[in-house]
Amino acid sequence: MEQILEVTDLYKSFDIAGSRKKVQAINGVSFTLNRGETLGLVGESGSGKTTVGRCLLGLEAPTAGSVEFQGMTLSRKVNVRSPRLRGKIQLVFQEPAESLDPRFRIVESIEEPMKAAGMPRTEREGRIDEVMRRVNLPRRILDYYPASLSAGQQQRVGIARALATGPALIVLDEPTSALDPTARAEIIELLMAIQQETGTSYLFISHDLSAVHHVSHRIAVMYLGMIVEQGPASVIFSAPHHPYSMGLLSSVLLPDPEIRRKATLSLAGEIPSPINLPDACFLASRCPFATDQCRATMPPREEIGPGHFVHCFHHEEAARADQPSDTFEEFQAVAQRVLGITDRRDEAQPGDAVRLHSVDRP
Ligand code: ADP
Ligand code: MG
Repeated sequence: MEQILEVTDLYKSFDIAGSRKKVQAINGVSFTLNRGETLGLVGESGSGKTTVGRCLLGLEAPTAGSVEFQGMTLSRKVNVRSPRLRGKIQLVFQEPAESLDPRFRIVESIEEPMKAAGMPRTEREGRIDEVMRRVNLPRRILDYYPASLSAGQQQRVGIARALATGPALIVLDEPTSALDPTARAEIIELLMAIQQETGTSYLFISHDLSAVHHVSHRIAVMYLGMIVEQGPASVIFSAPHHPYSMGLLSSVLLPDPEIRRKATLSLAGEIPSPINLPDACFLASRCPFATDQCRATMPPREEIGPGHFVHCFHHEEAARADQPSDTFEEFQAVAQRVLGITDRRDEAQPGDAVRLHSVDRP
């Protein structure tokens, strides 16, 4: 598998006006992304997901660590807007309004990244037709302004705009969160179809776990600027090993109570402030498995299965305490129903869902 992105030990802190303290937004994030692969980045609001995305795009300069994309090191100078990158990384925001300037007609919005990437006019025209077809939008809306389109159509335009330069990577920051359920299902289907056709990789940032679950090959769970656990989607959904992942999957982020995990792990206690993080496990104050060791030392990253990484001294005990379950398949079935998506993987046999989802999506 061809690796296109490598993020190594990324840190990002923000200054606080009038104070010598800093917001420690990202605290040692590492992951890779292969061609044609989707990594779902999940976590509560404020966990640092958007900041990771912005560092990848070179829109934010990391305090430490590096982002290597197809042999280039990204920075403030070599970023998503640089001609040198030739539009190989694009982004789609939660609010289509953020990607689309209300003063520009749709055609101008779609053409803009192609111009930035130095694509000649003749090529641009053909490309506009192609991406409009790909996102199922009629040509006539090219002359419209964003305000006359529905939210779902605006998001399609956002995707068309992102696709225009033939990117190898698209960072999608909460792309479905502002949409109604029908539009949400359509966008998810569309993104998956585009990936199958083009082999584009996605970093899919979302707190909408049913969407993440549907599109992601791998999942990274963020908490206070760290990826506390990452691994194949099937493993993270059915057998999470980090107490935080268990808590996350059991509670707040699932839109439908039916898809809550049976084993509910409650994380009571105070969340440390990102301005004053402990020199120990960030979850220790809330974790039922925490010991003195957790309150004194940050657990290192450990690989506990193929591509499955976790920062926890007590992951074995935690995983044993969590009811082993068929949650993944259950989740998949309910998520499909909630999203109104039918599974097009015809060859799937009941009981095969985990295997099919985790590795067989081309
Ligand atoms: P998420 O996308 O997961 O909600 P963010 O990446 O937006 O999280 O934010 C992570 C942390 O960094 C939060 O504590 C947030 O307040 C802080 N943060 C993000 N951007 C800035 C900024 N420009 N200045 C100061 N703090 C910021
Ligand atoms: Mg965000």
